Amino acid sequence: MSDDATSRKIPRLGGIRLDFIPAAGADDHVPASQAIATGETVEARVVIVGSGPAGLTAAIYTARANLDPIVIGGVAGGGQLMITSEVENYPGFPEGIQGPELMGLFRKQAERFGARIVDADVERVDLGKRPFRLWAAGVEYRAQAVIVATGAEAIWLGIESETRLRGRGVSACATCDGFFFRDKEVGVVGGGDGALEDALFLTRFASKVHLIHRRNAFRGSKIMAARAGSHPRIQLHLNRTVEEVLGAEHVEALRLGRTDGTGEERLPVQGLFVAIGHRPNVAVFRDWLETDEKGYLRTEGATTASNIDGVFIAGDVDDHRYRQAVTAAGEGCRAAIDAERWLEAQEAAARTTADTTQATAASPAAAATVPGT
Ligand code: NAP
Repeated sequence: MSDDATSRKIPRLGGIRLDFIPAAGADDHVPASQAIATGETVEARVVIVGSGPAGLTAAIYTARANLDPIVIGGVAGGGQLMITSEVENYPGFPEGIQGPELMGLFRKQAERFGARIVDADVERVDLGKRPFRLWAAGVEYRAQAVIVATGAEAIWLGIESETRLRGRGVSACATCDGFFFRDKEVGVVGGGDGALEDALFLTRFASKVHLIHRRNAFRGSKIMAARAGSHPRIQLHLNRTVEEVLGAEHVEALRLGRTDGTGEERLPVQGLFVAIGHRPNVAVFRDWLETDEKGYLRTEGATTASNIDGVFIAGDVDDHRYRQAVTAAGEGCRAAIDAERWLEAQEAAARTTADTTQATAASPAAAATVPGT
């Protein structure tokens, strides 16, 4: 692949080098933020917060429904796929596609139908009454409906070597990247159901899975712990911490510390899966939207509605179970349809009220015959 200025390097996984050539037109748009001056107030029927698969799918659907959405997509927009290399499980791409390239295509498709995408972070919101108000980069947005699609982020160990080798053998998504480790040895760090599930999943590909946990017992469910503990290709490393990921270009080994401080070990692996939890991006909405016991935004029943009428939720910010690009995109579609129907109902109600007011003004006696007045 070319190494020129138009190709953006992205990390490699499992020692495979991957370069990203942006989709035509994906990087040459003029961000809407450049067209909106600081201090301005912008009115919109729908504002979507977040520009991952959920946010941009909501943008495609609401734009095609003529709702003129504005997407406040974040300074580092595009979501988790921007730090993902090869995506082989997104339908429609039989040869696979680079994560950032896929997000470039999502964005291009949303912009084709008129969605305006602002590359800024939402700093503050007021969802107390309609229009809802959101502030980003010195601009106030006023929206009749809001779709929150801010996603969730993997929690990382926070060591320098982990960051350096992220995408070069270090991953936080076994479902996405396990396939690259066929017949290789990998480590999984964590002690919850997430780590246990990842370790069991990775046995489909890896010749051996080393499950590393900092305690002598797992936090995850007993049944999953028993399954992992008895699996012939899973080796447990309890009371151990990952001190360093070793390797210049890609993961070659781990330096493990013993929690009782009695020494260190070198564990040769080609991959490390960090499975120590996820953090939903809810900070600016915390005062307004209900969260569940795990801190994810709560939706009402089988819909994407939140506890505030007119505010809808989509993607990983309310989903700690599936966390896939395709499920997030599906939720973005659902939120867009929910928002569209809700706006339609609001606008129909407002028209009825206006008609009634007019009829009352024209002939006070007629008001008595209008149902519901
Ligand atoms: P979790 O339950 O919060 O577990 C996180 C694990 O990572 C804990 O064992 C924790 O250790 C460890 N950890 C945290 N920070 C660490 C650090 N800096 N270094 C080393 N280890 C660290 O997260 P999760 O496993 O992602 O699960 C999240 C939720 O989803 C849970 O409620 C879980 O039950 C659910 N879930 C369910 C399933 C399933 O049912 N199939 C699958 C996946 C997840 P300590 O134990 O020492 O705190």
